[in-house]
Amino acid sequence: MRATVGNGLPSVLRVAIAGISHESNTYAVEASGLTEVGSFDRYRGDEIIARYRGTATYIGGMLDALDELGAAAVPTFFAIGEPSGTVTTAAYAQLRDELLATLRAALPVDAVAMELHGAGVTETTGDLEGQLLAEVRHLVGSSVPIVVTLDLHANVTTRMVEHADVLLGVHLNPHTDMHDRGAEAVRLLPSLVTGALKPASHVEPLPMLLPLTTTDAGPAADVNARCAAVERRPGVIDCTFFHGFPYADGPDVGARVVCTVDADAAAAVELAREVGAYVWQRREAFRPTGLSPDEAVAAALEVPGGPVIINDTADNPGGGTRGDDMQLLAAMLAAGVTGSCFGFICDAESVDAAHVAGVGATVALELGGKSDRRARSPLAVTAYVKGLTDGRYRLSFYAPGLEVNLGRTARLQVGGIDVIVVSRVQQTFDPEVFLLHGVDVTRCHIVALKSSHHFRAGFRSLATAIITADSESGLTTQRIEGLRRSIGPTAVWPIDLTARYGE
Ligand SMILES: [Zn+2]
Repeated sequence: MRATVGNGLPSVLRVAIAGISHESNTYAVEASGLTEVGSFDRYRGDEIIARYRGTATYIGGMLDALDELGAAAVPTFFAIGEPSGTVTTAAYAQLRDELLATLRAALPVDAVAMELHGAGVTETTGDLEGQLLAEVRHLVGSSVPIVVTLDLHANVTTRMVEHADVLLGVHLNPHTDMHDRGAEAVRLLPSLVTGALKPASHVEPLPMLLPLTTTDAGPAADVNARCAAVERRPGVIDCTFFHGFPYADGPDVGARVVCTVDADAAAAVELAREVGAYVWQRREAFRPTGLSPDEAVAAALEVPGGPVIINDTADNPGGGTRGDDMQLLAAMLAAGVTGSCFGFICDAESVDAAHVAGVGATVALELGGKSDRRARSPLAVTAYVKGLTDGRYRLSFYAPGLEVNLGRTARLQVGGIDVIVVSRVQQTFDPEVFLLHGVDVTRCHIVALKSSHHFRAGFRSLATAIITADSESGLTTQRIEGLRRSIGPTAVWPIDLTARYGE
């Protein structure tokens, strides 16, 4: 037994930090393959602290709250990969084995705090997180609280709820409340350890796949207001509307409401259903309004002044694409756009060619369009090499403080457009990447970028307009009614308009 102080709490609470985070796009497998273990960045022990302390991330929030409580962080193992195809069975097994081994070595602990995404799929399970939580629970036993943070795009399962004491999802898209949820999860721990808090959670599945939706305004903001009202009721610990991640084909995919109430399972069910009914009633308001790339460029050119943001939502690396679809840049060049920038295209081969040629050189490139195994679709361009960098910087608006490494990069001038080309795939989170290359976005007419919503954190305050381009051929098109569904619930909105909920 560990020494305890009068209130039943250990004198110093030891809290293990662990996690595996991946958003798996099962539709990406055909184009870019399965996800192997090498696609994950892996942090061990103090490397977790070094990367996340002082950042506005889930683990950053956990660490800050542990400091507030005078508790000890016990960092074990954390793996995170950019969104991509289904994770191989071998990759998952390797990550899970290392997580469990390091956690076992860290025992005894008083609690476990985990950062998970919630939309992980392996070759053998559609519920990576439920499986992992079951194994962590088996290892630490039923008396050690497990708190978990999840992404808003988690496809939450009853298995996850069964094996965790509390699951907290971010409420916002862009996810600017990651730090808040990480801290909130840890602040629950003293009451969980003493048994003062007895959370009962319910996950209410809705028969709907939600297109990626911002919470800045519109129907998702209204739903969040309902959740916040529910959270103000006595005994309610959390009420979150999880949008789910629609780009996965499986039985566990879809929007859910999760409600957690202290010692009242019936109330958790009732409140989750109350919010679920509100979401369902408003479902048509979630239909997207994206334009084709040509239409988006034409609309942007109508806007006087700038910067006008065009976000290429159908090629959003934040949803598992490779960031090298060329349709939007082609549309801008065809329209004769000048005084504008594009950030970014992921194409390591073109970056290498620019580095070999050097600053001041003019190069002929087959730019982008190389990642899809089924068909190449690069754009032939003549580019002036304006600048070259190491692709390293820190985010300032989305996950402030977090280090980014895009590999070697090049600023290429193509026609009247400054195009940033990078070696490692990621979505465009904020304007820092342009600053790194000496491009001031506030002086640009059009700023084109690859992201669905997270860019809003850094661009909404400076944009004169935001226009969404949605090329329907892209893997992360908002037009999700066209997604093939081979497994899973038979009737889900908006694929099947006969879907019913609570009627
Ligand atoms: Zn998300």
